[in-house]
Amino acid sequence: QLAAATEYVHAVYDAVVKRNHHEPEFHQAVFEILESLIPVIAKRPEYRKNNILERIVEPERVVYFRVPWVDDNGNVQVNRGFRVQFNSSLGPYKGGLRFHPSVNASIIKFLGFEQIFKNSLTGQPIGGGKGGSDFDPKGKSDNEVMRFTQSFMTELFKYIGPEVDVPAGDIGVGGREIGYMFGQYKRIRGGNPAGVLTGKGVGYGGSLARTEATGYGCVYFVNEMLESKGLSYQDSTVVVSGSGNVSIYAIEKAQQLGAKVVACSDSNGYIYDPQGINLETVKQLKEVNRKRISEYVNEHPHAVYTPGCEGIWTIPCDIALPCATQNEIDADAAKLLVSNGVKAIGEGANMPSTLDAIEVFLDNGVLFGPAKAANAGGVAVSALEMAQNSMRLHWSFEEVDKKLHDIMKNIYNQSVQAAEEFGHAGNLVVGANIAGFIKVADAMLAHGV
Ligand code: GLU
Repeated sequence: QLAAATEYVHAVYDAVVKRNHHEPEFHQAVFEILESLIPVIAKRPEYRKNNILERIVEPERVVYFRVPWVDDNGNVQVNRGFRVQFNSSLGPYKGGLRFHPSVNASIIKFLGFEQIFKNSLTGQPIGGGKGGSDFDPKGKSDNEVMRFTQSFMTELFKYIGPEVDVPAGDIGVGGREIGYMFGQYKRIRGGNPAGVLTGKGVGYGGSLARTEATGYGCVYFVNEMLESKGLSYQDSTVVVSGSGNVSIYAIEKAQQLGAKVVACSDSNGYIYDPQGINLETVKQLKEVNRKRISEYVNEHPHAVYTPGCEGIWTIPCDIALPCATQNEIDADAAKLLVSNGVKAIGEGANMPSTLDAIEVFLDNGVLFGPAKAANAGGVAVSALEMAQNSMRLHWSFEEVDKKLHDIMKNIYNQSVQAAEEFGHAGNLVVGANIAGFIKVADAMLAHGV
């Protein structure tokens, strides 16, 4: 049974590679999911009979479009926009928009594919999607960002809607960008359809605790892993990569739970502060002034700035929270973390560990919280934002935070149970993938071909 399932899964993977040329990130994400589904395919013949795997790896729809805009010097610029509507079995497509020069079809498809299973794990009625552009917000003026996002939405609006597809933020897209896009959507469509985007400002339909949700959720998830082994954040040393929205609130919650966070980074380099990162300084630099993390040492001269962001994994720590970007931890970095005594990893970013790095962690008994599970808190609270918009009411910070905490515990428990049921006890990578997959696959079966 297992041999036949393995052969079938590998054939599906080979077909994905053939059909999606030069899309290494997408191949990686598909491979990681498919491998862990082998025991499910062996046990549940109905999935194979209905070709669920061949169907799930093919997006329902992909749009890409021209985004022309005028820069501050009066020159016309052109970027490319993307939206992949991957799977709507569980609800409207849901997933962020990423604005970063590296964005291409491979990156958006890997993110959209992951989103299907992550969203399923949250237990909320949301399908999987993702979008973005190769526009680089770094160094752009406020007005340039506004003109770009307006042009982006002038095309995107045709494909989205509160019951259809609900984008949100990701790398390079925060409250400012969501605000401009919401304004443009309203201008074009009329009315005030709050539920068309999430991550809105709290004054106009946003949810309290959405900003904090991904970072807090990641820390809550890791806390479940730690507690299962009688460990905790108290007095632990933590390294958090990145210094964007996910990182900042992961640092905040880890500090609240008694950890000492000694490092964070941006795409240029990292800071090491042996006394513990001063989060107010990071917030001021990144959230208010949009500056580089290197400037941290101006206020805290005892801290050390090192150019190049990969070096952050040479810092010994008990807990590592990669919250920057995909494939930021390779096998060498993983080996270094292990030899320096790391006990737990919580993936705040999407796919931050390479396949080889994950193997190193699992082989060495490191507690490993995979992205789909550990960073699902952001999209989970996005779903709560949609719920509040539909009901036209507003929950308190405490209410949302409590729901987030319960959702993260539930994701942890589902992952543990699925891993056990399918013969991989303790492996949350496999557990999260299986638990996320089964709900989507069953919905696809229920909906027919
Ligand atoms: N970009 C986030 C993620 O990777 C959040 C998406 C959302 O809130 O829709 O899950």
